[in-house]
Amino acid sequence: MTPARPIDTICAIATPLGIGAVGVVRVSGPDALSVVETIFAPRRRGGPSPTLADAPSHTVHHGWMTDPATGEPVDEVLVTLMRAPRSYTCEETVEISGHGGPMVLARILELCLSAGARLAEPGEFTKRAFLNGRLDLTQAEAVMALIHAESETAHRLALRQLRGDVADAVRAIRTSLLELLGQCEASLDFVEQGVAAPPSEHVRLQLDAIRRRLDVLVQSAQAGERLRDGVQTVIIGRPNVGKSSLFNRLLRKERAIVTPFPGTTRDLLQEMLLINNVPIRLIDTAGIRTSPDPIEREGIQRARRSTDEADLVLLVLDGSQPLQQDDWMLLDAINTNNTIIIFNKIDVCAPMDFTAVAGRHQTTSIVPLSASTGAGCEELLAQISRWLTERLGGSVERPMISSSRQEQALTAAMHAITNAQGAAANGMPAECLACDLNDAIRQLGGLLGVDGDFTEELLDNIFSQFCIGK
Ligand code: GDP
Repeated sequence: MTPARPIDTICAIATPLGIGAVGVVRVSGPDALSVVETIFAPRRRGGPSPTLADAPSHTVHHGWMTDPATGEPVDEVLVTLMRAPRSYTCEETVEISGHGGPMVLARILELCLSAGARLAEPGEFTKRAFLNGRLDLTQAEAVMALIHAESETAHRLALRQLRGDVADAVRAIRTSLLELLGQCEASLDFVEQGVAAPPSEHVRLQLDAIRRRLDVLVQSAQAGERLRDGVQTVIIGRPNVGKSSLFNRLLRKERAIVTPFPGTTRDLLQEMLLINNVPIRLIDTAGIRTSPDPIEREGIQRARRSTDEADLVLLVLDGSQPLQQDDWMLLDAINTNNTIIIFNKIDVCAPMDFTAVAGRHQTTSIVPLSASTGAGCEELLAQISRWLTERLGGSVERPMISSSRQEQALTAAMHAITNAQGAAANGMPAECLACDLNDAIRQLGGLLGVDGDFTEELLDNIFSQFCIGK
């Protein structure tokens, strides 16, 4: 069921709590202007000042927030008016910019509440923008992604989604489905007038084309997740080969953007860094070797698990010594598609056993370097960049699915298309095909939040993740 349109006026502090030069209290809803009017005393410049209610949209007014009960001033402010529908929420909106102290903003908020506004729930301003048709659900999610973006790439992706490129791609596929459904339904509705069902070859070709377009979007979800949350890159190797030294060297070379992750286990150290503007989640693991010690064995288990889950593995070998049995065991276990082999400690001598390893792993990148001096590290970064380009290359320029909700809806739509293809191939009646097409259309509608294809629960799930004031 479509939730009812809001009719009350909401307010919230829109800037982070803490001390800042400026803080903003946002008021939105049909009574926004009258709420602020009762607590705002415009600065007079001789002659009567215009009331806010008479002021044009997108104007800024200087004056004082004043407690109407006592007449006492609370803060000197600038009040910005944005009249419906030319505001973020499409409603009458007033933004009060005051001094950015928590007490000052709390007092302004209190005044708005006592003048008749209600405290906004998390994400309620954006929810209203959605309910009033200013944003679809993919764009609402993009607002949150934009706020949380930690890299230039994540920022760019969120902006593109906010501009509507994901929505456009989904909407175009949905339109093709609606057209095909229209043809099927016409043949059902006008059977007596002799309207024929669309030819099965035409249906098959249409469904194939739709499937290909959907598939591109589903595929983009994985790349989207990597670009948003980081490409999981694990450094492995037996103890003392120089894993931690390499970890530190890479972090020093590139810009680390986050300090250790919360929930980091004792033996897996994680940091984020940017390589070519792609966020990399770099993980240093416990050295892997056969060990009788139970604590060390647990660390090794975790290292192995993180290798299984990794996007990219950096396998470090100590090039200053002949390789040991544990090194060969690791070399035998690697997946050549996602591993770069590193011969460390080239400052001591030319890497031993290089030729043997190169002979056995002809398709894997092998980089000799010294984590101590930094020699060869540029080449490693170049190899990582090349790998990233091969895996994610160009994806930033394409519409990219960025939330698991969107991915689930697309996968469900894909499932419905598979059923429709089955129905068409088996010559099932047009009703069956129409039913599957309807299912796919509903899934894509739910992804966008159009035509009432969403529930209050879905909206709560999305908007409760926002902060209050957004
Ligand atoms: P990990 O156990 O694999 O994490 O190895 P560490 O990074 O702790 O390094 C083990 C030892 O090797 C330390 O004494 C490091 O100083 C040394 N080491 C690491 N990298 C290099 C290198 O490139 N050259 C030389 N000469 N020593 C290194």
